[in-house]
Amino acid sequence: MSILVTGGAGYIGSHTCVLLLEAGYDVVVLDNLSNSSPKSIGRVEKITGKKIKFYECDILDKNGMRKIFKENDIDAVIHFAGLKAVGESVAQPLKYYENNISGTVCLLEVMNEFNVKKMVFSSSATVYGMTDKVPLTEDLPTSANSPYGQTKLMIEQILTDLAVSDKEWSISLLRYFNPVGAHESGSIGENPKGIPNNLMPYITQVASGKLEQLSIFGNDYPTKDGTGVRDYIHVVDLADGHLKALDKLNTTKGVMIHNLGTGVGYSVLDLVNAFQEANNLKINYKFAPRRPGDVVTCYADPSKAKKELGWEAKKSVVDMCRDSWNWQKNNPNGYDD
Ligand code: NAD
Ligand code: UDP
Repeated sequence: MSILVTGGAGYIGSHTCVLLLEAGYDVVVLDNLSNSSPKSIGRVEKITGKKIKFYECDILDKNGMRKIFKENDIDAVIHFAGLKAVGESVAQPLKYYENNISGTVCLLEVMNEFNVKKMVFSSSATVYGMTDKVPLTEDLPTSANSPYGQTKLMIEQILTDLAVSDKEWSISLLRYFNPVGAHESGSIGENPKGIPNNLMPYITQVASGKLEQLSIFGNDYPTKDGTGVRDYIHVVDLADGHLKALDKLNTTKGVMIHNLGTGVGYSVLDLVNAFQEANNLKINYKFAPRRPGDVVTCYADPSKAKKELGWEAKKSVVDMCRDSWNWQKNNPNGYDD
């Protein structure tokens, strides 16, 4: 029995593949490599000493996916494949709706054909919208601020409708907070194309001298130091949440929803300071205007995942900063080195 990991060459997918292989699963990866490098697969194999069966395939390509399901005995799917740049989704909404939503519908149709009815889906804290209620619990109302967020909400709804229509489905919706960090080997990590939008890769590229200065977006928020607060979570902890969710799918039908976060909010300045201390480096930064669309404070209540999945984040902010830098330092140009 194999686990199919869509988007398994990407950032979170590659880390999840490591844990799956280490736990003894057979892993099949499907990825169109639109935002990743096939080198990540080789690195995962090197870390674990185990093989991945890799297919360069698009989730919009039903025949390509049929071939994968025919050639492998797939037990469950962990579905990471999707586009994730918020700004790009505002500029090119149709690309996002087609890739993320139509792609997911194609995947679900092929899963139905092959009677594979277990899925773990990568959702996001973005589905909580612009609320200032913290900590965020899974029962809060949802809304979207961007086409990207809308795709996460719509896929959550599609999966919920599917599970209502067919009681054989077992579906886990995992709402991630802010994944950072990298595998401790420093050989896999986040590989943003162009100038990073997210804070941690921006910090690491300033540290490496690739970028000159970090702009901190807003220092007049109603937070302890005026900068925005987020729940940063180590990607290896996040990956572990998928294994726990996968276990749970074996004994649960219908849809379950869990936050994957640490439950602790760090401000932008906290993270910059933690990075400086953990790595003994100076980060050049300036304060800049607020970034439109940013929430002030966002952190999880992760107690439902602890209670129901037996999962909790274990790694500290120091681990996150050290491992992010270790990856950047070893791979200044990501997988292009
Ligand atoms: P990533 O871009 O590194 O990985 C996504 C992978 O999916 C890439 O390898 C890409 O090539 C592949 N892909 C995209 N469209 C595809 C398609 N049509 N067919 C096949 N493969 C396709 O991103 P990530 O950070 O690893 O994110 C994984 C998932 O988690 C995404 O669904 C993302 O929206 C979600 N998520 C990410 C974050 C984050 O901050 N990184 C936060 C919340 C949710
Ligand atoms: N941020 C920043 N400078 C940057 C990138 C991000 O000050 O170059 C801030 C941003 O305003 C937010 C926090 O860092 O308060 C996390 O931003 P990120 O884009 O990583 O995550 P998201 O906002 O999507 O949760």
